[in-house]
Amino acid sequence: MVENIKKGFENMVGSAIKKYAKEKGLKVANGVAYGVVDGYMITLTDGSGIKTLSVSGAITDEIAARLEAKFQDKKFLGQYRIGQYKILRESVTIVFADTVGTMKKIIAFLEIFPAILRENGVLGDGFCTVCGNYIDAGFQSNVVLVNGVAHRVHTHCATAVNQRSEVENDIHKTEDKKLGRGIIGALLGSLLGGVVWAVAYYMGWFIALIGVLIGFLSKKGYEFLGGKVCKAKTAIILVTTLIGAAFGQIAGDFAWIAQQTVLADPVNYSILDIPYNYIMILTNPEFTGSMIWSFVQGAFFALLGAYVILKKSHTENKDAILNTITLE
Ligand SMILES: [Zn+2]
Repeated sequence: MVENIKKGFENMVGSAIKKYAKEKGLKVANGVAYGVVDGYMITLTDGSGIKTLSVSGAITDEIAARLEAKFQDKKFLGQYRIGQYKILRESVTIVFADTVGTMKKIIAFLEIFPAILRENGVLGDGFCTVCGNYIDAGFQSNVVLVNGVAHRVHTHCATAVNQRSEVENDIHKTEDKKLGRGIIGALLGSLLGGVVWAVAYYMGWFIALIGVLIGFLSKKGYEFLGGKVCKAKTAIILVTTLIGAAFGQIAGDFAWIAQQTVLADPVNYSILDIPYNYIMILTNPEFTGSMIWSFVQGAFFALLGAYVILKKSHTENKDAILNTITLE
């Protein structure tokens, strides 16, 4: 199974798909060609370097396992130039690498695939994938594009799924505000970790392991302020962890310089001498080597700590939301 196949490309319909749509009587709207081919509602679209075919149908776990086995066949995948595929409860999406002659491969695939779906008991057009019932004569139906895949569904089911999409999108918008709070939280957490680092560095303790604490506090800070659960979270925590490590290193050096200068000899030194001395030290190769080495060690452990903590929460990414467009 491939996650987020729909992400990262802008929907459009090129000339090859348009030509096929005309031949088969498919409609073109909202960047997709859609219609019924051999008993199944299909959706075709062009992306950057790919063509995507989706088929609407009711797929139980058992059927999904059988289809999965079919897609394990490397010869089958190669024959039709199938790059990725995704089997969901209400659709199968197949991504084809787009080179010369890809549309021919898709047309050939569409000549055999509906029969494969039928053999495996996938219910196609005429079956509502929203409520799981047949669309009996007398019931009105709509075609709705759900996350880029066209489905024919009961009119009342179309209303329900559109409402759910609206609610999810509203939640997503408020979630975006939480992203900013999460960034502040992660930064505060990692700076706090940086302070601990600075103190340890000043005291001359082995500091590398404190890096792990910075990563930990960054994540805690993100969550404490109610940061959004999304993929950006990982990047935010890693970046703030590095900022915390750099801050800790510089603060530790400042404390050490202060001890040597203004604290040791307040008559001849002032606080303003600290940054000056820091620059002097930075440009002195005798010291820079050990400073860089201590920073690299600490940053390594900080990132390692953040990575280990984040790996555990890898499953909490919830970027995917329901997006619907009523086609007809
Ligand atoms: Zn329905």
